[in-house]
Amino acid sequence: MESGHLKVLTSIGQLVQERNKRELEKIFLNSLADFIEFDALIILHKPRHLDDPYLEVALSQPSQAFKHHLNVISHETGQDYIHSDHHISQCIKSAQIVFCASEDNRRGLFPITVNDEVIGLLDLYALDILDSTQSMIRGFIHIYEKFLEVLHDNEHDALTGLLNRKTFDTHIEEFYKLAPLSSNGALNSKPEHRHTKPGCHHWIGILDIDHFKKINDGFGHVFGDEVLLLFAGLLKKIFRNSDMLFRFGGEEFVVFLLNTTKQEATQTFERFRRELELFNFPQVGKVTVSIGMTKIDSECHSASLLEQADRALYYAKENGRNQIRNYHDLINQGALAELKVNHCIDLF
Ligand code: GH3
Ligand code: MG
Ligand code: MG
Repeated sequence: MESGHLKVLTSIGQLVQERNKRELEKIFLNSLADFIEFDALIILHKPRHLDDPYLEVALSQPSQAFKHHLNVISHETGQDYIHSDHHISQCIKSAQIVFCASEDNRRGLFPITVNDEVIGLLDLYALDILDSTQSMIRGFIHIYEKFLEVLHDNEHDALTGLLNRKTFDTHIEEFYKLAPLSSNGALNSKPEHRHTKPGCHHWIGILDIDHFKKINDGFGHVFGDEVLLLFAGLLKKIFRNSDMLFRFGGEEFVVFLLNTTKQEATQTFERFRRELELFNFPQVGKVTVSIGMTKIDSECHSASLLEQADRALYYAKENGRNQIRNYHDLINQGALAELKVNHCIDLF
């Protein structure tokens, strides 16, 4: 067998073994880099909001030359961003490969699609982009997409497309224990809007739709499901790209907010509550939500944090629904008794 073929098979073998998205990205990019000539090879993540002017750089090669050439914006948390442009928008909107000339070389933008939705781009800068190079890239992306699809389906809820409970249980502690706390603006705040904001924390909120059983009983499960779908759409609209959205099961959702002050976190949950209250659901009409939130103490197990948020949620339900309650505020007000045991001990 030719050594080139063997190399391809070895790369595919590595892709098959990998079950983690970050590692999969690395193997994909490194494997491709072995086969093509390029000046820069970059994986970009599509932002959740299409009009967001920045894209997250997932990986790039060669990083230094690329950074210099493309004016990368590095956030203090270590995450790099680049400005979007009309070629990028065109590639995302059309889900087609876009070629254009850059200063002294060519640029090719290749969409990366999972379940018929563009989730990112491969951005290639090279002296020339030959037909054989295009075919090679398309082939690699095709295999990569198939593995991303398997990973995606494992991690997401089929009805709403949000992350599922299993993903929360498996990854949430590594997210909040590893995510650096920024004293200088939220992770995904626009770089030019960054300003000093002391007191940033990570937060968890449990959102539970009020009287959902009545919706099911009154209108049937199909309309119930539609409420869940539109509810998830509203979550995606209101929260930032860096916030993680989970459907926990039934009509219960969890939001994980990164690097946010107490005031901002509360305001964001309040904005969601208000938008939902104003939204007109087809047939069903008005729907409200109760929210229990808590500040993440990185020493705590996720189950303990959920217990705190759940107690705040229960309080909101008991006290009129359609409201947000903060666990630590309730403790300070004496409305809730602090658990006798160390609250960071896993209670489940
Ligand atoms: P509360 O305000 O106290 O939260 O009342 P509730 O009626 O929302 O709460 P309860 O837990 O009693 O009811 C939740 C209902 O959600 C019961 C169940 O039939 C329904 N449900 C769970 N999963 C799904 C789903 O996937 N689709 C639909 N349509 N309904 C679901
Ligand atoms: Mg409910
Ligand atoms: Mg419930």
